[in-house]
Amino acid sequence: TQAVHARIDGALVMIGFGSIGRGTLPLIERHIGFDRDRFTVIEPSGDFAHILRDHGIRHLQCALTPDNYADVLRSLFPEGRGMIVNLSVDVDSIELMKLAQEMGVQYLDTVVEPWPGFYFGSPLPNADRTNYPLREKVRALGKAYVGGPTAVSCCGANPGMVSWLLKEALLRLALDTGVAANPVGREDWAALMQTLGVKGIHIAERDTQVSARAKPPGVFVNTWSVDGLLSEGYQPAELGWGTHEKALPPQGHAFDHGPGYAIWIDRPGADTRVRSWCPDVGPQFGFVITHNEALSIPDYYTVWEGDRAVYRPTCHYAYHPSNDAILSLHEINGAGKLAEAQHILTVDEIVAGGDDLGVLLYGHAKGAMWYGSRLSCDEARRLAPYQNATGMQVTSAVLAAMVWAAENPRAGFVEADEMDHVRCLDVQRPYLGRIECHYTDWTPLSHRINRFAEDRDEDDPWQFSNFLAV
Ligand code: NAD
Repeated sequence: TQAVHARIDGALVMIGFGSIGRGTLPLIERHIGFDRDRFTVIEPSGDFAHILRDHGIRHLQCALTPDNYADVLRSLFPEGRGMIVNLSVDVDSIELMKLAQEMGVQYLDTVVEPWPGFYFGSPLPNADRTNYPLREKVRALGKAYVGGPTAVSCCGANPGMVSWLLKEALLRLALDTGVAANPVGREDWAALMQTLGVKGIHIAERDTQVSARAKPPGVFVNTWSVDGLLSEGYQPAELGWGTHEKALPPQGHAFDHGPGYAIWIDRPGADTRVRSWCPDVGPQFGFVITHNEALSIPDYYTVWEGDRAVYRPTCHYAYHPSNDAILSLHEINGAGKLAEAQHILTVDEIVAGGDDLGVLLYGHAKGAMWYGSRLSCDEARRLAPYQNATGMQVTSAVLAAMVWAAENPRAGFVEADEMDHVRCLDVQRPYLGRIECHYTDWTPLSHRINRFAEDRDEDDPWQFSNFLAV
């Protein structure tokens, strides 16, 4: 597990040294060849500057803004070679992608992030505060830079790794149901999913990490970026919309532009629950928090006949964050305002638990199947410093994407669905704990405490209306 997988030729610039940036550093040192005196971390905060000092990495202590980002980044790539790894919040991914193309350097991020002002206090209508227009903008831009320097969009654990796990899961389901499968291109993968009869996919996650200290009232506690969770959690809920769905949910809206693979619900994702399933706990609630993979997956797996989509899965995040984060969301939803203080649980504070993050494929011949990574915080602690289990699932995906980008330097704009999942998981697997496959006969109609009025479709248990808990 100590192998150097790839070399960065030129400068290496990491933007943001938060929970993910700190965890990515030791993996880069272990697995990427780079020039230490051409590695710069741009991070406005001085809180963790000592780590960079200890590792002998240059710390450029400044915040990127619309006014300075181009000058700052150009000065770091005098010969126009190298890679930008953007692990920050509040720095516009699309602007950085354009600049990276102009400079001729590779680029990688884990979300499509806008400058401040989009997530909160925005004058935009809710339809325009979704991820769909952000992703459509990135896809349109990509068409202008075909064959340009590789720009990997949205590649962490999810979005990111889950798209690679989904491909493994499909091959496993094909094997277990006796379906011949040898997919190569996008159309083959989409046809395989259709043949398998998959109606939908949850990105089904359960974070069980706990601290010994009870969450103080008024403090928002999470196991990764609090700002990141709040930003996406208070965008509207959003999901890929399958061709089998009969009716839009209450407050649900189609988009009036673009290819239309998704819908949005006029409610915050962090207050929109679905019934879902994860190993260990079994049935659970998850939040439909908007994510790029809830858009890229339905888009990638659409089967077209001319300009008609004849098959597409429903797809969305069903996230059970850590107990402290659930309580934090409950508090701020009740208060109607954001918390004044925040805290990210470190690996040293976490006394038990881990993160189960996988894909739940449902509606096929075997009912439902969860396939994913089950990583305990204890194991994460043993594998590499500065990160909990959640962080490690993300940072190892960033590492895999860096390796893939270095090996495929002129692939233009890509998302995880379009990368080589075998190679990426090869790099990442040592950091994922156990990869497990679980079949279950659970459906969203199968468990209730007492019966109350609800909108049930008994004819098709896999309708989104059956999952949605309002
Ligand atoms: P964090 O909040 O711990 O750290 C973000 C860092 O960005 C902070 O250190 C902050 O000082 C820095 N920053 C803020 N403004 C900046 C600016 N103008 N210029 C440069 N740096 C700035 O967040 P994190 O947990 O490290 O997450 C980092 C990013 O990764 C977030 O965008 C998050 O949404 C994303 N993420 C993606 C996944 C995934 O699986 N795809 C998972 C976790 C996090």
